[in-house]
Amino acid sequence: MDNLQTAINFIKNSSNIVAFTGAGASTESNIPDFRSAGGLYRENEKYKYPPEYMLSHTFFMKHTEEFFDFYKNKMIYRDARPNNCHIGLARLEEIGKLKAVITQNIDGLHQLAGSKNVLELHGSVYRNYCMKCGAAFDLDYIMDEGKPVPKCNKCGGIVKPDVVLYEEALDHDVLNKSIAFIKAADVLIVIGTSLVVYPAAGLINYYRGDKLILINKSPTPYDNVARLVIKGNAGDVMKSIINSIAV
Ligand code: NAD
Repeated sequence: MDNLQTAINFIKNSSNIVAFTGAGASTESNIPDFRSAGGLYRENEKYKYPPEYMLSHTFFMKHTEEFFDFYKNKMIYRDARPNNCHIGLARLEEIGKLKAVITQNIDGLHQLAGSKNVLELHGSVYRNYCMKCGAAFDLDYIMDEGKPVPKCNKCGGIVKPDVVLYEEALDHDVLNKSIAFIKAADVLIVIGTSLVVYPAAGLINYYRGDKLILINKSPTPYDNVARLVIKGNAGDVMKSIINSIAV
């Protein structure tokens, strides 16, 4: 039996599945990831600093205007729509098989596809807060071209995206819930992540089961511990899974 068929059987027989997704889950929605050939880290264009630095807390504090220029141009895809990966995971939740999607993505596409229990480890571009008074703002407010650095309309403080930058800690509550879901999972499906960004990647180590499925276009450091590695596009693989489950 090939790996895809075995994965389908695991999924058919389980009602305690957890998914852990990365930027590769959204590339078929035309949002570039960081490390693929067409990814952001391979681009070498107008920005004079590496993306890791431009997305760090230090850079945000020191070069706030440049941060927002990069962020608005490279991290925001307001027209992106969910692809078969997001849609398939939402369906698995709807039919009672999938308990949670834990995502490193900040694009909101799992929710747009209909997933209800989404744990956003790295936050979301759709939430933004004033650093001074805590007032909340939507994405449109941040994107206003007239304001290179978005400022609070109540107190004048800088409005910061609720996105975890390099050097910043993950939200404790989201992290603890993610760990609990992974610890309790029967099947863990890891999709489209290079598994090199910590602490998020280390979450896999909390999994206690023996049905770890990795779906990725390229090898990852966890391939040797996975029960099944499925090489392919996340959207295609999820579509085959959903079609085979026939619901
Ligand atoms: P990454 O760029 O490091 O790795 C993406 C992985 O997905 C690679 O291994 C690649 O081979 C694989 N991949 C790409 N397209 C795929 C597809 N269609 N099907 C299957 N696999 C595919 O991304 P990461 O591991 O998520 O870590 C990078 C960080 O970047 C995360 O913290 C995330 O917050 C952030 N990020 C988010 C978005 C988003 O929200 N959509 C986009 C870019 C980066």
